[in-house]
Amino acid sequence: MKSLIAGNWKMNFDRAKVEAFADQLSLGDGYDADKAELLLCAPHVYLALLADKLAGQGVYIGGQDCSDHQSGAYTGQVSAAMLSDIGCSYVIVGHSERRDYNDETSRNVQTKAGLALEQGLTPIICVGETEYQRDGGEAFAIVEDQVVGSTPSQLSEGQKIVVAYEPVWAIGTGKVASEDDVAQMHAHIYQVLETKYGAPTADTIRILYGGSMKPDNAQGLLSLPYVHGGLIGGASLDVKSFLAIASLV
Ligand code: PEP
Repeated sequence: MKSLIAGNWKMNFDRAKVEAFADQLSLGDGYDADKAELLLCAPHVYLALLADKLAGQGVYIGGQDCSDHQSGAYTGQVSAAMLSDIGCSYVIVGHSERRDYNDETSRNVQTKAGLALEQGLTPIICVGETEYQRDGGEAFAIVEDQVVGSTPSQLSEGQKIVVAYEPVWAIGTGKVASEDDVAQMHAHIYQVLETKYGAPTADTIRILYGGSMKPDNAQGLLSLPYVHGGLIGGASLDVKSFLAIASLV
């Protein structure tokens, strides 16, 4: 399975920085396109610009969220259909910042993932425990509940999802989960997916690690079993770091 190296820019950059990033990315090399797929999840307002700048370069574009409604009177929201319409291939759903600041539940996330699939997008479904939950020995149970509750109840032929394990305490903090913890959690997530969908389907689902991934810690993480790439926040804001991580696959 080709690894996915996905950047989550969050609410960063302006038009000039998006353009500069895209220009630099087109010059960048060092990663093997046969091994790693690159994805940039930009703020919605810059997605069309980014799609335009990166056209024909084999870099995928994705949203950072989509509405849990198809269309209609939902002021400020962006639908999965709109993301697909402007050239997105992926959308992040259920990021812990949205679960936390916007009170999103796994049920909301499951609805968003389903709408994304209907529009031909691949949802990247984020799960992960807080530090309090990990310290309380609940990490496996919490993540299992989130995986079961946030993924679609079934997947039709050809529909693909990605699951991103992002321990909340490792996001943007510089603290990285140990390789042992990541290996154990990813194996657990695979087993949950296997129980839910069966092995042939579970084998097609990429499981990404996210949480302070940087060029100096990515190699070990990316070589673990059941780790099929990374979801990268801070380090994806710098083209060199982003490509350096991609080159470690
Ligand atoms: C994220 O927000 O998805 C993330 C992993 O951020 P960071 O890499 O900055 O920890």
